[in-house]
Amino acid sequence: MVPAGGIGGARLLRGLAAVVGDDAVITVIGNTGDDIWVHGLRVCPDLDTVMYTLGNGISEERGWGREDETFTVKDELAAYGVEPTWFGLGDRDTATHLIRTQLLHAGYPLSAVTAALCDRWKPGVQLLPMSDERVETHVVVDDPDQTPEPGQAAARRAIHFQEWWIRYRAQLPAHSFAYVGLDNAKPGPGVIEAIDTCDLIIIPPSNPVVSVGTILQIPGIREAIVEAPAPVVGISPIIAGAPVRGMADACLRAIDVPTTATGIARHYGPRRALIPIGASGGGILDAWLIDTSDAAAVPDIEALGITCAAVPLLMSNLAKTADMARAAMDLVGFTP
Ligand code: GDP
Ligand code: CA
Repeated sequence: MVPAGGIGGARLLRGLAAVVGDDAVITVIGNTGDDIWVHGLRVCPDLDTVMYTLGNGISEERGWGREDETFTVKDELAAYGVEPTWFGLGDRDTATHLIRTQLLHAGYPLSAVTAALCDRWKPGVQLLPMSDERVETHVVVDDPDQTPEPGQAAARRAIHFQEWWIRYRAQLPAHSFAYVGLDNAKPGPGVIEAIDTCDLIIIPPSNPVVSVGTILQIPGIREAIVEAPAPVVGISPIIAGAPVRGMADACLRAIDVPTTATGIARHYGPRRALIPIGASGGGILDAWLIDTSDAAAVPDIEALGITCAAVPLLMSNLAKTADMARAAMDLVGFTP
C-alpha cells in the first residue's frame, strides 16, 4: 500500500511496479486534498498524475497533465476574462475532467469515478481516493489584496492550495494549512482494509505536508497505519536539504519542520514509540530511506528509533527508481 501525492508518488510507483511484477497487487491511496472546481469541472490533480504516469499518458517533461497537450480551451477562457486564468487546464486533460464531472453529477462517488477513468488508463495499481467526501487543502496567508495600515497586522485569508501553489508559486508565506471538510470525511471504500491487510506500506517521496500529511489527516487513516501489521518504510523527498522538485520547503516552513531528511523523519515519527516524538497522534515509520548526500544523518535518525540507510534517491530513470524501491524493501526485510 502506498499513500501518494502527485509526481513523487507516481514516480516511485513506477519503480515499485517494475520490482514487484504483475502478480503483486499495489494499492494506492491517493491524495484528493488538491482537488478543485475549475470552470465547472472537477479536477483531481494527484489522482490524475498517478493514473497518467502509470498509464503512460503523462507529460514526462512537466510531470503533470498529458503528453502532446494543447491549451486552446484555457486560452479561449482567458479571452473571455474568466478566472481562474492561472490553472493549467489542457485540452486532452479536459476530457478526463468532463467525464469525471458528469459521473459525479450523476451521483457516483469519486472512488467509482476514479475506477471508471482507470478502465481506460490501466495504471496497473488499485487507485483509491483517500476519501469520497470533499476535503480541500487551504492555506492561510496574509491577504494579498489588502495593504495593512502602518503598525497594524495584515489581515489573513485562507486560499485554495492550488491558488497558493500555482498562482503565487508558494511565495506568499503560509501561516498554516486548513483542511476544509475534514470533519465530515471518512476514508474511501477499501482504504482501511488495504492498510490492515497489505504486506508492506511504503511512504513515497511525496510532499510530507500537503500530500502524505493530508491523507494522514483523514480520521482513521493515521491510526490504521500506526497499528498496521505490515512494516512501514518511508523514502525522503528531501535531498541535501532541498526538495527535488516543487516547493515542499515552503510547506514545511509553515509547520516548523526543517527541510532535512532528519526533520521529516522526526515529523513522521517512529511507530509504536514508547515516548512519542514529533508526530501528533502516533508515529508512522519503522524505517526511513535517505539520500547518500544526507548519509551523515543516519545515526540521528536511528537514535529516533527509526531504521535508516542512505542510497541514491534521485528518480532520474526507471532503473534507478527500481533500485530505490528495492532498497526501501530491503530496509524492512521485505522480499517481493
Ligand atoms: P505533487 O503532488 O505533484 O507535488 O507530488 P508529490 O507530493 O507526490 O511529490 C512532491 C515531492 O516529490 C517533492 O517534495 C519532491 O521533493 C519529491 N520528488 C520529486 N522527484 C523526486 C526524486 O527524484 N527523488 C526524491 N527523493 N524525491 C523527489
Ligand atoms: Ca499534489
